[in-house]
Amino acid sequence: MTAAALRPVPANRTLDLRSDTVTQPTPAMREAMAKADVGDDVFGEDPSVLALEAKVAGIMGKEAALYVSSGTQSNLLGVLAHCQRGEEFLIGDCYHVFQYEAMGTAVLGSVAAYPLRTDARGGLEPQQVLDAIKPDDVHKPITRLLSLENTVAGRVQSQDRIDALADAAHSRGLQVHIDGARLMNAAVKQGLKAKDMAAKIDTVSLCLSKGLGAPVGSVLSGPADYIKRARRLRKMLGGGMRQAGILAAAGLHALEHHVDRMAEDHANARRLAQGLAEAGPLTVDVDDIDTNMLFIEPAAEDVEPLRAFLKEQGIVLGSPRPAKIRVVTHLDISSEDVDRIVAAVKAFYAKR
Ligand SMILES: *Cc1c(COP(=O)(O)O)cnc(C)c1O
Repeated sequence: MTAAALRPVPANRTLDLRSDTVTQPTPAMREAMAKADVGDDVFGEDPSVLALEAKVAGIMGKEAALYVSSGTQSNLLGVLAHCQRGEEFLIGDCYHVFQYEAMGTAVLGSVAAYPLRTDARGGLEPQQVLDAIKPDDVHKPITRLLSLENTVAGRVQSQDRIDALADAAHSRGLQVHIDGARLMNAAVKQGLKAKDMAAKIDTVSLCLSKGLGAPVGSVLSGPADYIKRARRLRKMLGGGMRQAGILAAAGLHALEHHVDRMAEDHANARRLAQGLAEAGPLTVDVDDIDTNMLFIEPAAEDVEPLRAFLKEQGIVLGSPRPAKIRVVTHLDISSEDVDRIVAAVKAFYAKR
């Protein structure tokens, strides 16, 4: 179903391109939430949470899964379920767990992150992993885990590489976690099943609140004993929620109705990039777009005037980090909206 078919849209509504987290629940999703059977999930008695956990475990091909409040909590539990105080995990230096999660693994778990330099598309090489594993030496922490990510800034990581990285880690006794906040975007893009993508991974984190369009929640999947440990840690962090089924129902609805449609977001991202590349003097790397993210770089002096002009037109653009602006397509951006955005950017450069 197209975005327009999922929700009647007023033509002049605000188009928010900052992230795919900004989506509003659709009317059908709200209905599923309103009708959800609920119970006390800390007692393990919420049928909607249990159904969501079983569904995601199945999608990922894992024994068990745990519904949590956010991707950050899911990754934190993933790392802490594997690593003890004084141990370390290897991670790409641009990955979310290393850059944007307030180093919770160190603060809350006394677990150190050891960053590895990623290539231009966010990838790592198996040899980097092997070289970074510490010897059994009193001067060193114990290397316990490799933490991967897919997609990385919208870029799909090659499955052969992911598998080779996991094999390298396992060959030396490490476990492997993947931050799959947008793993379903990568699955849709490649026509692969998530469980095949995660076959060599021990624990997988999936966000329901990004491209899938649920208002809240992530799910950590993995072996039953790790998920049991993560469940205790979730309670410790204050993340045990009671009638959470009302939220889980949104996630179930998203997994049933919003997966295949992400192909539309990917097509929109590509068409938006092509349109913007022709709309004025800004740099867009059209060929580097795999899923629902593009990065644009207007001339430095154009950035704030462009953002202000678009804001007046009801189009919200993020700020540059540091030079490039991330533009994200999602459930609330239709193909017609892409035309509206391109026309607005053209209008800005026409009067420049
Ligand atoms: C958004 C995101 C997270 C964290 O999710 P929150 O729900 O915002 O905590 C983790 N990893 C990646 C790659 C993300 O994009």
